[in-house]
Amino acid sequence: ADVLRRIRQVDPQVGAFLTVDEEGATARAKALDDAPADERGKALFGVPYALKDNMCTAGIRTTAASRILENYIPPYDATVAEKLRAAGGIMVGKTNMDEFAMGSSTENSAYQKTKNPYDLDAVPGGSSGGSAAAVAAGLVPFALGSDTGGSIRQPAAFCGVVGLKPTYGRVSRFGLIAFASSLDQIGPFTRTVEDAAYVLNLISGRDLLDSTSAPADVEDFTADLQKGVQGLRIGVVRDIDTEGLQPGVRAAVDGAIDTLRQAGAEVVEVSLPNSHYAVAAYYLLAPAEASSNLARYDGVRYGRRAEGETLLQMYQRTRSEGFGMEVKRRIMIGTYALSSGYYDAYYKRAQQMRTLILRDFEAAFQHCDVIATPTAPTTAFKFGEKTDNPLQMYLNDIYTIPANLAGIPGISVPCGLSDGLPVGLQLLGRAFDEKTLLRVAHAYE
Ligand code: GLN
Repeated sequence: ADVLRRIRQVDPQVGAFLTVDEEGATARAKALDDAPADERGKALFGVPYALKDNMCTAGIRTTAASRILENYIPPYDATVAEKLRAAGGIMVGKTNMDEFAMGSSTENSAYQKTKNPYDLDAVPGGSSGGSAAAVAAGLVPFALGSDTGGSIRQPAAFCGVVGLKPTYGRVSRFGLIAFASSLDQIGPFTRTVEDAAYVLNLISGRDLLDSTSAPADVEDFTADLQKGVQGLRIGVVRDIDTEGLQPGVRAAVDGAIDTLRQAGAEVVEVSLPNSHYAVAAYYLLAPAEASSNLARYDGVRYGRRAEGETLLQMYQRTRSEGFGMEVKRRIMIGTYALSSGYYDAYYKRAQQMRTLILRDFEAAFQHCDVIATPTAPTTAFKFGEKTDNPLQMYLNDIYTIPANLAGIPGISVPCGLSDGLPVGLQLLGRAFDEKTLLRVAHAYE
């Protein structure tokens, strides 16, 4: 009840939630009150949390912040929703996001703006801006987001919280509304690294409902947290793009790396020569996959249907009314990149680049255990600052995208302020080595 009251008081200023499930959360809390003693030991017993609105929740509206799913009520729960519930948690609501997770500021939501709790004139980042803002504003102790090109780490950095993108396949995507299926991954926003490790314990694992979920064992991700960084090698990237990197961000990140060195880590230089091409490759591959994933919104199977005299007219009207500008732009880019005449020139080349980027990381991890970079080149920008220039918006993902292309885990940890706004330190790890990643992140924290 306290959490719901706080959301009622604070969220009108922040705008983190698209749906607050007052009734469901209250009923659930009541039911837990009466729970038998043996259920009280559950990991999340009574802990409130929020889900990004692209994760299906049975009986609760799930929109992906799109008009096309305005009245969509899923008949089933995403695997992550089911797992958190089984652990005794209380889902209080669904958070705002860029439509279909396409964006870096949450301004592409068809419904509302979400404000950065640190500066109400600034964006919270995106696409999981609502989840980041909800945790930063103290509305919930944790929330889940999804990260296709940075959508957990970048908003975590902008809002001064911890955001973890696990290894691709670590967490089931069943019930996650697909954007780019080979890149999408679900992960937590929390206030501490330790909390992120706990949540990862609860949501990870093989799921027969998602054939891309990895058979890797569920480990206890909290096990190594206290081990410190003595004996670990932190890689700093020699050839990283620094164009557009704000001096204040650079200073904060350099300071963080220095702190890790003083704590006993060895700092080494590594090279990621192809990371320069990551943004270009991503903005072909992600739209290509999106154009295919979004073909299902045809007015027949889900959500909104417009009137039309013929079937084709109905399709056209449904999709032109239902999708926003950015989504249409991506569908067009993706369809173009996949069309038979251009496939080799664009889609195939981008896939080849993806392989080179993966190899760069494999080579770099021969020399270090974790790579440290800024999470984003800038701190939170003002509303409207980048909306007219999609390329500017896309470039905000320059440091986060390579990890999605390579499938490796990444975390953003707050590392101080620049002009009063939070800066994020991004740490990247080897595939399925979240333990070392979390260990370094915790040592820094
Ligand atoms: N900002 C990136 C994009 O617009 C990443 C989004 C995401 O990770 N979901 O595609």
